[in-house]
Amino acid sequence: MTPGIPARPGRPKHDPPRIGIMGGTFDPIHNGHLVAASEVAWVYDLDEVIFVPTGRPVFKLDKEVTNAEDRYLMTVIATAPNPKFTVSRVDIDRPGITYTIDTLRDIRAQYPSAELFFITGADAVTEILRWKDVDRMRDYAHFVAVTRPGYSDPGAIRHAPEGMVDALEIPALAISSTDIRHRASLSEPVWYLVPDGVVQYIAKHGLYRR
Ligand code: NAP
Repeated sequence: MTPGIPARPGRPKHDPPRIGIMGGTFDPIHNGHLVAASEVAWVYDLDEVIFVPTGRPVFKLDKEVTNAEDRYLMTVIATAPNPKFTVSRVDIDRPGITYTIDTLRDIRAQYPSAELFFITGADAVTEILRWKDVDRMRDYAHFVAVTRPGYSDPGAIRHAPEGMVDALEIPALAISSTDIRHRASLSEPVWYLVPDGVVQYIAKHGLYRR
């Protein structure tokens, strides 16, 4: 980049680019996720954050998860206004169970030189030591565990290999997908917990109704 000329929105300003990978089931995506991605982008000076909705989440094989196209479309709607945010289909298009090592490999193939930061909820990161190929994952990306207010159980974050995982508290993560699904199932309002377009999408497609 020419010194003094700011990067255009959506264009990497670092060479190599610094890219966040926001992994989650996003069932549904909510404003807490958006604030978390924005905050991590700010703190780590990221050029772009790629939201990657999971295909078949490995620890939810016995749970009901909304179909991937609905979760993907809600993520596209929610992220559309932010020029730094994009959405990837790598996890939902890959057959079989979603493993983060595969997510990282696929994004690495698209951005061979980028510095990658994998961002997800701290509760998910506490499973990190159970993840497939944990030692190889640290070669691909730095991990950022975003926590809810009052989160007091760093668990596996503390036991992860030295320097592999950072934790960042995000007050807006008082919002949770579980709570939104519960409210929607009771026909309670979810306005302002999720972007307006996602409110409309949930209503239009009858998601989370009992
Ligand atoms: P989850 O169990 O649904 O979520 C655990 C907690 O983390 C929930 O409180 C959740 O809140 C929160 N969370 C999840 N994603 C978040 C995000 N991007 N930002 C902020 N909070 C988030 O976890 P999951 O969604 O299935 O998995 C999260 C990521 O970890 C995915 O990319 C998944 O593929 C990966 N993962 C990989 C492995 C593996 O490779 N073996 C195992 C587990 C998870 P909300 O419900 O409000 O989002």
